[in-house]
Amino acid sequence: MSLSFDPAAIELPEGHHIGGRLVPAETQMPVLRPSDGVAQAGCPIADAGIVDQAVEAAKTALKTSGWAGLRPRERVKALHRFADLIETEAERLGRLESVVSTRPIAQSISGDVAITAEQIRFFAEFADKEGGTVAPTAQDKLGLIESEPYGVVGAITPWNFPISMAGWKLGPALAAGNAVVLKPSEMTPFTAVALAELSVRAGLPEGLVNVVLGDGATTGNALTGHPGIAKISFTGSTAAGAAIMGNIARTGIKPMTLELGGKSPQIVFADADLDLAADCITRGILSNAGQVCVAGSRVVAEASILDALRERLVARFAQIAPGPTWDETSSYSPIISERQLARIKTILSSARQTGAELIIGGERLDRAGSFFAPTILAGVGPDSPAVREEIFGPVLTLQAFTDEAEALALADHPDYGLCAGVYTANLSRAIRITRSIRAGTVWVNRYGRSTDHILPTGGYKGSGLGKDLGREAYEANRRQKSVLIDL
Ligand code: NAD
Repeated sequence: MSLSFDPAAIELPEGHHIGGRLVPAETQMPVLRPSDGVAQAGCPIADAGIVDQAVEAAKTALKTSGWAGLRPRERVKALHRFADLIETEAERLGRLESVVSTRPIAQSISGDVAITAEQIRFFAEFADKEGGTVAPTAQDKLGLIESEPYGVVGAITPWNFPISMAGWKLGPALAAGNAVVLKPSEMTPFTAVALAELSVRAGLPEGLVNVVLGDGATTGNALTGHPGIAKISFTGSTAAGAAIMGNIARTGIKPMTLELGGKSPQIVFADADLDLAADCITRGILSNAGQVCVAGSRVVAEASILDALRERLVARFAQIAPGPTWDETSSYSPIISERQLARIKTILSSARQTGAELIIGGERLDRAGSFFAPTILAGVGPDSPAVREEIFGPVLTLQAFTDEAEALALADHPDYGLCAGVYTANLSRAIRITRSIRAGTVWVNRYGRSTDHILPTGGYKGSGLGKDLGREAYEANRRQKSVLIDL
């Protein structure tokens, strides 16, 4: 059966989801389809009053349902029902995801939606297996380290993987016994609302999952500064993460997890399997047209193999299949907006003014929609804008090194430390490099996240604070309380 669909026929939920129901709202900004630039619908902007309603609904849901105090297995079962429904509705969710995002339909159904259901299941299973501990105190005392949920968690997500980023946030927060007020990106608001609806259909308490739509300046700001929000879980740019830290400092201290931007290196040694490295590097920068926080955008290769690697990359970069996200044969994504495409061009032109040599690409594709050609730049120094800035597009830079020390110096970025890739046949070297790199994740002879959700993800330096995924993400949604009893 064909997965392709007619985008105009897709009905999009226009409104917030608060207290278990859709709250219709006048739309204030258009939501454009990046595949052809057509406005498919609009997004409302929740003001402080709407955010307040959502926080109150979440508090009421916690109070009346006893979600946090349920027998933990009941939470596990409810979340598995939620995941079951996500899987049953995979096609509808996939279409909702693909119509206004950059995710091709084949990838959103079998990738993004499937991963979202898996994440809910993965975190659900912690709910009755992780808890407090008895502390080793003196014999005449009983020391307990209890663990309890925060209450209402505020979650904010970006547009690049709308549904699976919502899964990252909902899974651990709900499993840990919290309620959530989620604000998705104003450019891709719809699958978050659909998930909230499904949570109610799955029997989760009404108001446990609330979605407020809007931009960062109004809605995001109201959410992070709301006194009823006990914890913030954010994924997005480093600039927005810094603004959120500032707002939290001004409005009342609360814990936060920040998953931010990156500018990740891919280090290739001369003994590496060059075909494997070229495949991984291509996927690592062209997947979602480079609009991925972990995009491996900087190749740092041993000088003796740089030309051979470049040839392989150029051949692979020519094999893209761009097309509308609603066509099942498309696998190369559009850029989310004309504004983002213009930003890519600006960074490229300043890189070229400072000496970068264009090997391939460099222009938008000659077709409808905001598609940008896979691009490779050589001749870039460490201060080139193409090497320093998170471009968030299909742009790869090539730099050469002659020894390990130089490889590490080039790989290290002063501001970011999200991920890195290392390609070598020498295990000792791989481990040496892995230990020296200042990044939250290092992949050896592969690139990109796996479906092993047990591996926590998060950045060093300006790439973030705290972890998503893994046991750490579950624990970050609970807080510890020490109890000491004199016997
Ligand atoms: P963005 O920071 O512009 O927006 C992300 C979200 O934050 C949106 O919902 C936006 O409305 C909201 N927002 C913006 N300013 C805000 C503020 N001051 N207060 C509260 N909310 C605010 O990012 P984007 O363009 O949507 O996404 C791309 C960025 O996200 C890239 O930098 C990318 O690296 C990063 N990202 C990181 C990860 C990770 O795991 N580290 C994953 C995906 C994306």
